[in-house]
Amino acid sequence: MSEKKLPGTVRLRVAPSPTGDPHVGTAYMSMFDLAFARQQGGRFLLRIEDTDRARLQEDSERQIFDTLHWLGLTWDEGPDVGGPCAPYRQSERLETYRPFVERLLKAGHAYHCWCSAELLTAMREDQQRRKVPTGYDRLCLGKTRDERAALPGFSETPVVRMRIPDDVETSFDDLIAGRIDAPVPDDQVILKADGFPTYHLAVVVDDHLMGITHVVRGQEWISSTPKHLLLYRWLGIDPPAFAHMPLLRDERKAKISKRKSPWARLTWFKEQGYLPEALVNFLALQGYPPIVEADGTEREVFTFDEFAERFEWSKVNPAGSIFNLDKLDWLNGVWIRDLPLGEFTSRLLPFLEADGVLSGNPSLGELARLRSIAALIQTRMAKLTEASALVAPFFMGDDVIAIADDARAQLDAQSPAVLEAAMHALGDIDDHSRGVLGSESDWAAARIEAALRTAIVEGLGVKPKIAFGPLRTAVSGQRISPPLFESMEILGKTSTLARLQALRDTL
Ligand code: GLU
Repeated sequence: MSEKKLPGTVRLRVAPSPTGDPHVGTAYMSMFDLAFARQQGGRFLLRIEDTDRARLQEDSERQIFDTLHWLGLTWDEGPDVGGPCAPYRQSERLETYRPFVERLLKAGHAYHCWCSAELLTAMREDQQRRKVPTGYDRLCLGKTRDERAALPGFSETPVVRMRIPDDVETSFDDLIAGRIDAPVPDDQVILKADGFPTYHLAVVVDDHLMGITHVVRGQEWISSTPKHLLLYRWLGIDPPAFAHMPLLRDERKAKISKRKSPWARLTWFKEQGYLPEALVNFLALQGYPPIVEADGTEREVFTFDEFAERFEWSKVNPAGSIFNLDKLDWLNGVWIRDLPLGEFTSRLLPFLEADGVLSGNPSLGELARLRSIAALIQTRMAKLTEASALVAPFFMGDDVIAIADDARAQLDAQSPAVLEAAMHALGDIDDHSRGVLGSESDWAAARIEAALRTAIVEGLGVKPKIAFGPLRTAVSGQRISPPLFESMEILGKTSTLARLQALRDTL
C-alpha cells in the first residue's frame, strides 16, 4: 500500500463537532494526526464541524480547545489561531460549498429532493418492516418541482442528494486496515433544506481546500468513505489517504459513548485527577503497541514525543483494545512518581483548592509545608484526587481532626496506654521544628521514630505492627495516611502532642 510521504507537506486535521463535552475520541484522533504531522514536519489543523445545527452546544468549542491544550496537543491552524485556509469553522464557510453543489447538480451527479421528513420516516419504517436495506427510494429523481409537488409528502424547500451510480466502488485502501470493503451507500443528502451542507459534502470540500493529505478518523466512518470518494471523483480532485482508527471500546466491547460511560468525556479525566501525560500515553496504547527498545524489551511508558518519533501507520492495530481504567490508574501512578517534586506540588493545588483544603492563594509557609507533604505522598497515589484526604489533616486545627470509622476501628484496650507512652516519650524531644520536613531540628522523623519504638514497642511490649495504629489515627484521623514519623515531623511537636491528647481524652 502506498503511503503518501511528502516530507514537509503532510497536512492532517481533526474535525470535531461541537455537540457537548468533547469526546475522548477527539483527543485520540488528534494524537495520531499530530504524531504523524510532527514526524513528517507537516501541519496539524483543527476544524470545527458545526453544520448540524440541531446538535450544537454552546461552550463545546471552548471545551474542545481547553481539553486538547490541557493534553498538550497543539494545532498549527484552527479557528482560534487562524491560518491560510481560514475560516476553520464550517458554519462560516457556507458560501464555499454552494459552487460545488451547483457543479454536481449541473453534471447530473446530484438532484433535488422534496420528500418531507414524515414521508422519509414512513419509508424507512416500511423498509425495516419488510427487512430490506433502508435508503432513499429515489421518488424525486428525474422529476421537476411541479411533477413532484403533485405527489404526496411534498416539502417546499428541497434538499440536494447525491445520485449514487449502480456500479459504485465500495472498496478502498486504508493505511491501517489495508483494502476495506464498505457497504453500498444510498442517495445521501449533501445540502440540507436549511442551506447547510451535510458532513459528507463539507468534509470533502474542506479537506480538499485545506490541502489535507491524510484523513484520520474512527472506523465508524468507513461506511461514509465510498460516498466521499465518489464526490472526489466527480469534482475531479485527488482524494487524500485514509486511516480509519480502531474504535475505543468499553468492557462490553461496545464503542465508548458519552451516554453510557463517563470516561467518554475528556473533561472527566481532568476532573478525576489523571495527568495529561498519562492519558496521552494510555490513548496511544489503545491503538498502538509498546515501544520496542534496541535490546528487544518492550516499554509501555512513553512520552508523546517518543511516540511521534517512532510512529508508523502499519503498526496501528486495527482491532484496537478495550478501555481498561485499571491500566490507566497504573500508568497515572507511574507518571505521578516521575514528576519533579515542585511540579507535582503545583499540580495538586487545583484539587486541594476545589476540596477546600487550601485557598486559591496559599501562603509561602503553606506552600513549603505542602511540598514536604507532597514528598511523602507522591509515591502513594494513583490519581491527584486522592491528595485532599492525605493532605487535609496537615492543614486542620488540632481540635477539629475528625476520626474516620475505619481509623477508629484500629483502637483497642491498649490504645490509651500507647497514646500516653507516646506523649511522654515525645515530650522529651526538643522542638526547634519549622513544620517543614528535613528542617534541622531535634524534632525529626528518625528521632521521633526511635523515641516511639523505645517507649511503645520495647517499653509496653506492643508489637510494632499494631503499636502505631492509634498514633496514626490521632494525628491524621485516617487509617491510611502519609508515613507517620515524617507526618509528625511536619506537624511539629505542639500539634502532634495536642492531637495525641485529644484522642486520649475521648477514650
Ligand atoms: N465531524 C466528524 C466527527 O465529529 C469528523 C469525522 C471525520 O474526521 O471525517 O467525528
